[in-house]
Amino acid sequence: MEKISVAVRFRPPKPSVDADADSSSFSGGGAVGNREWRIDDSGISLLHRAVPVPGTSFVFDHVFNESVTNARIYGLLVRSLIRAAVDGFNGTAFAYGQTSSGKTFTMNGSGADPGIIPLAVRDIFDTAAEAADRVFLIRVSYMEIYNEEINDLLTLGSEKLPIHESLERGVYVSGLREEIVNNAEQVLQLLELGEANRHFGETNMNVRSSRSHTIFRMVIESSAKHQTNSGDAIRVSILNLVDLAGSERIPKTGADGVRLKEGKHINKSLMILGNVINKLSENGKQRGHIPYRDSKLTRILQSALGGNAKTSIICTAAPEEIHIEETRGTLQFASRAKCVSNCAQVNEILTDAALLKRQKLEIEELRKKLQGSHSEDLEQLILKQRNDMHKSELERDRLAMELEEERRLRETLEHRLAKQKMSQNHNNTDISVEQFADSSQLDVLKTPDSKRTPDGFVASRSHYLKDAEFCPIPENLGSVADEDLWMQLNKGCITDLDMLEMTSDFKCPPSPEDTTAVVPLEEPIDVRCLRLETACSSDRQQLEDSKARCTTLEKELELLKEENSSLRQELSKSKHDTDHEKEGLLKELETEKYKMEELKQDIRLFRQAFSQRQGHLTSLYTKSKAIVENCKASRVALP
Ligand code: ADP
Ligand code: MG
Repeated sequence: MEKISVAVRFRPPKPSVDADADSSSFSGGGAVGNREWRIDDSGISLLHRAVPVPGTSFVFDHVFNESVTNARIYGLLVRSLIRAAVDGFNGTAFAYGQTSSGKTFTMNGSGADPGIIPLAVRDIFDTAAEAADRVFLIRVSYMEIYNEEINDLLTLGSEKLPIHESLERGVYVSGLREEIVNNAEQVLQLLELGEANRHFGETNMNVRSSRSHTIFRMVIESSAKHQTNSGDAIRVSILNLVDLAGSERIPKTGADGVRLKEGKHINKSLMILGNVINKLSENGKQRGHIPYRDSKLTRILQSALGGNAKTSIICTAAPEEIHIEETRGTLQFASRAKCVSNCAQVNEILTDAALLKRQKLEIEELRKKLQGSHSEDLEQLILKQRNDMHKSELERDRLAMELEEERRLRETLEHRLAKQKMSQNHNNTDISVEQFADSSQLDVLKTPDSKRTPDGFVASRSHYLKDAEFCPIPENLGSVADEDLWMQLNKGCITDLDMLEMTSDFKCPPSPEDTTAVVPLEEPIDVRCLRLETACSSDRQQLEDSKARCTTLEKELELLKEENSSLRQELSKSKHDTDHEKEGLLKELETEKYKMEELKQDIRLFRQAFSQRQGHLTSLYTKSKAIVENCKASRVALP
């Protein structure tokens, strides 16, 4: 960002017809009235009887008195713009001020003191000639805005030209003639031609007052003579040199009819220029909409006002006391313009080869960015987290199975404990059906594989071994349950001894603690009680142990569940992050693609224009060659 350069220039006072009415108010300028402007190098203030008037002191980049030459103003404010324009930066210089304050004198100058435009034209060609490593193509156009209509000053009887806007060219005047120029003289001739086409009117204030804004434009294109890594792009810059029509107070000029209409248009467009400058000078966040579209002048100068251009403004002022109010208005405009910042950058059009090279670099950069974004690391992390999650799920399943197993074991133990308790009760007293209040207790005593035979015995020998010695009916069975009780319990079922051997209690291999597995039938009751009690307490202990283990496992399961859910969250978060990053990079790629398309389109247009111009020049060259040949021939033909 860089500020617009603003300078104020006072023209010499005019020799007045009535010395009292039109005395100079400029402290260095001869006759002094009550009020006068006091100036130094960069400051200016209004004095009333030598006392400063509050609110009328201003500071600018430069303040010039009547003795300054156009060459000095050019050197201080415009030369840098010209150098920058040759290097590819847009530039604009314009003169602003009331009618007859010296705008046209500043821009065009006189024979003895050439103005900014002729000085700039010469400087451009000189600077371009100095840049030995580049070739230049320079085009000029000259237009005026008169009564809010655009005329081409290089085309006689031109039609009103419209303003268009396109992505490739930005804001441009459609149909404006552009002349390719090779030297300063050619440009100055074109300027003369344009001047002749300008609208001048006669008002009381300035006999040859310009009634239109004129914009002289140079388009400077250049490319490197020899291909280099960075120099094969084409630079295009636009330089606007603008001479504005003067603001005026209508009663003062005495304008009427056509002049009055012109004056209104001029004042309106200058007012809009003032509005645009006011808006631009406001704080960035509060300034809102800039009314560039409200006038053709601001629309054409859009990039010069707060855009992509380096800009210098020379505000011209009349020193006479009678013009103090207008001068004050000009100074206020100038001090607003001082706050405006522009953002100029080199304008480059790339050749196909340069475009490819640049795109390769950009793609490489994007690839680096992608790598730099740790997407590979993230993917590794995601994989690892997935693995961890899978492992913890397996662990959870294993623990769940173990838990189930423990639960079953606990149930078995509880069941066995209940059974032992029951058998303890049974041993303590003679068993009768009436003692079993709970039918489940009775069921415990029932053999699971019983067959219902109403008239059968409680126990019979095995079908396979009828020999009493090999398979005796246990004699002491009676001490456990007599036949009647057995019959009552099993409702007349006969227990097959082979099947009886298969019941779970008998099938289990006897363990040292499991004293119930083989029960010695003749054991004394108190010993048996003791044994059962011991077994019972060991079972209880086992039960407690498995309960504790169960709780631990449950806790572990909870922890694993938590870990699992946090891993899931992390996974989804990192997935989201990666997606987001990928999305951003894709968008960047899209923008780059779009830019590339735009550049390609520009190149195509430029190529077309260039080949047209080449054709035109070739035909001109052929024609002039033919003329030269003819001349030579005719000279030879002469004796
Ligand atoms: P504007 O374009 O602002 O209406 P001009 O540039 O036409 O005013 O100036 C009006 C008159 O004042 C012209 O005759 C011009 O020669 C003269 N003039 C303006 N500025 C100067 C100057 N700095 N030195 C000499 N004459 C000047
Ligand atoms: Mg003028």
